[in-house]
Amino acid sequence: MLSCREIPNLANDYINREGSMRTRVMVSFHLSQCKNCRTYVRGLKITRSLVSESVRQPVGQELLNTLGLQHPDRDGSFKEPNE
Ligand SMILES: [Zn+2]
Repeated sequence: MLSCREIPNLANDYINREGSMRTRVMVSFHLSQCKNCRTYVRGLKITRSLVSESVRQPVGQELLNTLGLQHPDRDGSFKEPNE
């Protein structure tokens, strides 16, 4: 049985379906027994899906307005903050 301290190290592999089958089975077994780690892994998955969503979406004008950022020049070379 894995301990809770090992879960953060293994959670990424588990979510990415990487690592050995044995490890994934052990993680999934631990999660079936441990509510705290289930909550942790669910949070990790949500965070990751939000991040990949925002990377996939181009930055819209509405979002720029919300963040208080404006295109300095609509035809110019505006750089996204994450570049
Ligand atoms: Zn645990």
